Amino acid sequence: MADPIRVRFAPSPTGSLHVGHAHTALFNWLFARHHGGTFILRIEDTDEVRSTEESVSAIYEGLRWLGLDWDEGPDIGGPHAPYIQSERLDVYEEHYRKLLESGRAYYCYCSPEELEERREIMRARGLPPRYDNRCRSLSDAQRAAFEAEGRKPAVRFRMKDHGSTVIRDLIRGDMPYDNSLIGDLIIRKTSGFPTYHFSVVVDDHLMDVTHVIRGEDHISNTVPHLQLMEAFGFEPPRHAHLGLLMGPDRTKLSSRHGATDLAAYRRMGMLPQTMANFLALLGWSTGDDEEILSIGGIVERFDLDRVSKAPSVFDFGKCEFINGQHIRLASLEQLLDIAVPMLAEAGLLEATPSADDRVWVGRVIDLMRDRMRTVGVLTDWGRYFFTDEYEFEERAREKWLRKPETADTLDALAEALEALPDWTVEAIEGAVRNVAEQRGIGGGKAIHPCRAAVTGTTVGPSLFHLLELLPHATVVGRLRLVAEMCRAGAFDEPGPTLGE
Ligand code: GLU
Repeated sequence: MADPIRVRFAPSPTGSLHVGHAHTALFNWLFARHHGGTFILRIEDTDEVRSTEESVSAIYEGLRWLGLDWDEGPDIGGPHAPYIQSERLDVYEEHYRKLLESGRAYYCYCSPEELEERREIMRARGLPPRYDNRCRSLSDAQRAAFEAEGRKPAVRFRMKDHGSTVIRDLIRGDMPYDNSLIGDLIIRKTSGFPTYHFSVVVDDHLMDVTHVIRGEDHISNTVPHLQLMEAFGFEPPRHAHLGLLMGPDRTKLSSRHGATDLAAYRRMGMLPQTMANFLALLGWSTGDDEEILSIGGIVERFDLDRVSKAPSVFDFGKCEFINGQHIRLASLEQLLDIAVPMLAEAGLLEATPSADDRVWVGRVIDLMRDRMRTVGVLTDWGRYFFTDEYEFEERAREKWLRKPETADTLDALAEALEALPDWTVEAIEGAVRNVAEQRGIGGGKAIHPCRAAVTGTTVGPSLFHLLELLPHATVVGRLRLVAEMCRAGAFDEPGPTLGE
């Protein structure tokens, strides 16, 4: 029987959790969960300057929010702890020594300025800027002279000069790379920290990683990784390089295309199950037309054989569409847990609403959920439920609120609704239809101006249900005020809010 599957997500904590990283994490997690394997979280903080604690927290938070749990990791430990690379320096020391002793690594005394100068010259000659391997064959005397100058050496790995390195990729097949194109790589910086190439190889081996699934931007890194593994005598894991995520203009996804930070999607009111579903479909297909899947459904169906090497377009519209579908399926409690803090932050609700208010917000959500593509829209075009400070859209002004007869219709509606002893959907509908009849107009000519006045818009959920959710006096008050505004010509200019 094959070894149990062990995969890892190995982010560098140098910023927020990018959706591209979340995508990589998700594919590893799905692969592990589908096969009953192990998902490891390893923090690759070998960039001492750019790594931050906040970024580590953002990674934990982002993964947890998406629903990706890990079996081994810095916070929970595991058989190969520690899982944070800055705590593994002694492990790396042992491994540089092995390569130094076998002659596959050597000390390099070139300073950053000298290296940059030489790279400049290579670029000017139209050559790819690679290290010229000049410290490979320093004599003892040369080394001693550098040491005497006070230079601190880095350790470099001696790459192969000839032949090719073949990446055997589960998604892309075999990819041969010409060894002569890459110069010797630094594996230990002068600071004593490893470079990414080195720590990733050592840790993947020591942590028994069986499959390395990561973005296609890592393909060129896999060449030195394979050579390092060979130099150590490690058996390489299987590799799978996922297609890149692109913006709609087919260039690599970046902040130019909109939000790239997973947390921004959370703040917008995308549900975690949406992001898992949407990200899974970037590069993986279900094999049929079914696209709206629960995370459990994805785990069941996921495998690498339907993962494509082609880049995928991060289509925000599709993300919103999928979110709309998940909003319909979500529990009311989940939607409330997202909506309440958003409404509170927008100043539209108490931070800890009463139980009654929470029930009421739940009713608003239930009325709106078929139309909602993000929970965030409640603070935008759902504002009129929560405040009198809503705007009157141009369409509402043009079609209804600027019409001379509207003021009278609104007053008649106010009067009829005010007189209602019961504030129920049926009673409201009866009253509105009555007004239309008495005024000799079609039902629409009472319903639409009423909606325009009370909500500022021309579209929305069932008017009678919506009115019933608002306090009786609020509806009557709004109708009266808007009637006055109509008479005063307030809707001739764009953008008044109620009472302006
Ligand atoms: N630490 C690397 C990064 O954040 C990823 C390492 C890997 O997956 O091999 O890009």
